[in-house]
This record gives sequence, structure tokens and C-alpha cells, in this order.
Amino acid sequence: MNGQYTIATLGSHSALQILKGARDEGFKTLAIANRETERLYRSFAFVDDVIALDNYSQFPQTLGELERRKAIVVPHGSFVAYLSLEEHKRMTIPYFGNKAVLDWEASRELQREWLTRANIKMPRQFKNPEEIDRPVIVKLYGAKGGKGYMFIRDAGAFAERTAHLNEEYTIQEYIIGVPLYIHYFYSPLEDKLEIMSMDRRYETNVDSLGRIPAAAQEGMDVRPSYVVVGNQPVSLRESMLAECYRMGEDVVRVSKEICGPKGLFGAFCIETIITPDIQFYVMEISARIVAGTNLFIDGSPYSYLNYSEPMSTGRRIAREIKNALLSNNLRLVLDDTSVI
Ligand code: AMP
Ligand code: AMP
Repeated sequence: MNGQYTIATLGSHSALQILKGARDEGFKTLAIANRETERLYRSFAFVDDVIALDNYSQFPQTLGELERRKAIVVPHGSFVAYLSLEEHKRMTIPYFGNKAVLDWEASRELQREWLTRANIKMPRQFKNPEEIDRPVIVKLYGAKGGKGYMFIRDAGAFAERTAHLNEEYTIQEYIIGVPLYIHYFYSPLEDKLEIMSMDRRYETNVDSLGRIPAAAQEGMDVRPSYVVVGNQPVSLRESMLAECYRMGEDVVRVSKEICGPKGLFGAFCIETIITPDIQFYVMEISARIVAGTNLFIDGSPYSYLNYSEPMSTGRRIAREIKNALLSNNLRLVLDDTSVI
């Protein structure tokens, strides 16, 4: 039955994982690529078809064609990077996920309210530069992959370092600890949360500053930056897993109150920094599949505990859609704007 449906996504970010998972679960697969990436996506046997655009932002032009193919769109980070919130909402193509969550994710204030209600600790936010009494990180709004973020040591350095900025930004307490990105999947069909995998990001140059002794850095004007270039797998101390699970469950529970009844479902990621006293501080939540899951196309140690077969997050998404189709519950896993 699911063979009549096509799982479609933009050719970037985690598309290979999503489409491989879709094929493994018996769906047809479609990548919407651009002229540079078209050949790459065609080269994989599990990609049935490729539509090539000049630019990913032309994605809405393909919607008629997607409808004809009975496509279900699985969004990832590139959808947020290349399409506006308004464009997301205008699409009536079957869409895996709840678009109402996007508003709560896009606004740092709403995100903070959501996470606070889920009993999650966050770095302190400074509304006013005069209040800065500790090292901070300045985050540009809409910055992608940490680009343009600045570490600022104290209030004195703040004015000088931010004078050139004409974009909006937030000022957050800088947490010194270990970054850990936790990948979850919440199944609305089973009302069950799974920890799928975990990663840490590899960021330049903050992750390489330790290679130059502090004494040698003196006078060099080396400034940490946070541009992501890749991801590394992590397996967590088992005694810390219960708190990861608790955070995921509370985030899902509160999401049903703020953008109910469906709330947040499918893949999501909580981005944390863990301090030496084993406190999780949450920097951000991502309400869809994140690129760190690409490490685990063949499954992770955690997904193996739930499935004795390779289960990537991409495949888990396809399996949920398949299970929904088999139980005649497709609406439960699609946004309410979806016309099916
Ligand atoms: P792309 O389609 O590669 O331009 O990525 C879309 C968005 O996802 C951008 O905001 C990227 O910064 C982010 N992204 C891409 N790859 C990764 C990665 N490996 N880890 C974290 N974020 C990523
Ligand atoms: P984000 O855009 O929130 O995912 O942050 C990108 C990167 O900036 C993270 O992977 C961290 O390395 C760094 N970062 C973000 N927020 C903080 C914070 N409050 N304290 C320390 N580092 C942070």
C-alpha cells in the first residue's frame, strides 16, 4: 500500500538518509535537487527520481507535480534555511510534522517559554548589555550553523565587538561544558518517545583552539567562532540517560499544551551543554531531523536497543508513515494543512 506513495525531500542536509530510509520501508523516493547536486542524487540507486531546480527557494513551484505523484514531504534543516515560515504554512502538500511548532521554535522568546515550562535549564539571557556580568555568546537571529556567533568576555568588550552588527541578535550566558546534541523520535501512533542517537558538533575554530597553548595565543587575537563543519558520535554515561529521556518527554508534553492537540512529533533534537556538575543547559531545540543523525544511517547503539535492525532517524520517519498508512491513520502524522 505504501508503494503508491512517494517520500520527497530537498536534496541537501539529510536527504540521503531520509530517502534511503523511505526505500527500505517500501516507498518510492524523490529528491528535489539543484543543478549542482542533481547528478549526485541520481547516482544513488535508492533515489527513484530527481527534479532539478535552479534554486531551492523555487521548491513551491514543484508542489503541483508532487501532488500528482502522491508525495509526502519530509522536511529537514534546508527547508527552514531556504523557505520562509509563510511559505511553509501556504503548502498544502502532505507534510510530515506539525507546522504550528515552527512558530514556537523560530522565536527565541517562545522557545524559552516552552523549555522553561518543560523544567529545562537554559543559559541566562541578557536583554540589556549593561547587565552583562560574565562571558557571553552573541547569537545572530537566523544565523545558520553558528555563523557569525561571537564569544565576548565581558561588558567592556561588548560595545566594540558588536558595533558593526546591523542584524538582530541575542546575548546568552556562555556555558563552559561539553556540547551534546540528543536526537529523539516521538511516535504519535504509539505515544512513545525514543532516543535515536547523539552527536557533538565539530566547530571551527572553537574546537581547535586547544591545539595552540594559551600562552602561545597571547597577543594573537584568536577569537573563537562556531561554524559547524561536521559531527562526531557520542555515547553518554548511562546514568545521564534518564535525564535526557525526561527532558524529551517533558518537551513533548508541553508542546501538546502550547500547539496542541498534536504538539511536537516525529524527529527532534535538544541541543545541550553539560557542565562539570552534570547539569544539562539547553541552548536550543530543533523540531525536525538534524544533520547529526547522518552519522547513524546504519543505526546507532541506542536505536539498536529498540530495533534489532539498522534504524536511522530517516528510516524511523518512513516507518511511522508506513504504520500510519497501514492503520488508516495518516492524518495523525501529517500537518493539519495537508490535503490527502
Ligand atoms: P545545507 O542544506 O547544507 O545548507 O544545510 C541547511 C541547514 O542545516 C544550515 O543551516 C546548516 O548550517 C545546517 N547544517 C547542515 N549540515 C549540518 C551539520 N552537519 N551539523 C549541523 N548543522 C548542519
Ligand atoms: P546553536 O546555534 O544554538 O546551535 O549554537 C551553535 C554553537 O554555538 C553550539 O554548538 C555551541 O558550540 C555554541 N553555543 C551556543 N550557545 C552557547 C552557550 N550558551 N554557551 C556556550 N556555547 C554556546
